[in-house]
Amino acid sequence: MASKVQEIIGAASAIAKGMSVTLGEMLSPTITEGYPDEPVRFEQRYRGLHVLERDENGLEKCVACFLCAAACPSNCIYIEAAENTAQQRISAGERYAAVYNIDYNRCIFCGYCVEACPTDAITHGHGFELASYDTASLVYRKERLLAPRP
Ligand code: SF4
Ligand code: SF4
Repeated sequence: MASKVQEIIGAASAIAKGMSVTLGEMLSPTITEGYPDEPVRFEQRYRGLHVLERDENGLEKCVACFLCAAACPSNCIYIEAAENTAQQRISAGERYAAVYNIDYNRCIFCGYCVEACPTDAITHGHGFELASYDTASLVYRKERLLAPRP
């Protein structure tokens, strides 16, 4: 009989403990994001879609050194370099990226390209809505990655 009573007390205390956790969670502030109805908050370190940056004069920061492509473990960056001329200056360096593609079918958002860049030309933005039924549309060209002119 005594062991039966102890069993009932043990079960009741376990239920009370469980309910206290449930009630505590019910009363604590909600941390779930209301996406897509509410704007998403990002941590500063979030690695989203890349941005090819410009300098304060509007020139492209990329000087086509290929270091980002060499650092990329997924081999998803494709660059074609071209020389700046007096008549046509695209970047502040000798060369610029005439073609700069990132294949988001392969990118794993590791950030190695951003770390490797000597001119801070490539950064991670906060874009994340990448889903597509068409894999060809996941190859982003330079024009799509470039930051707007200041
Ligand atoms: S984030 Fe990583 S996988 Fe994606 S392009 Fe940069 S280096 Fe390559
Ligand atoms: S983004 Fe940076 S690392 Fe990549 S080619 Fe341009 S300057 Fe070099």
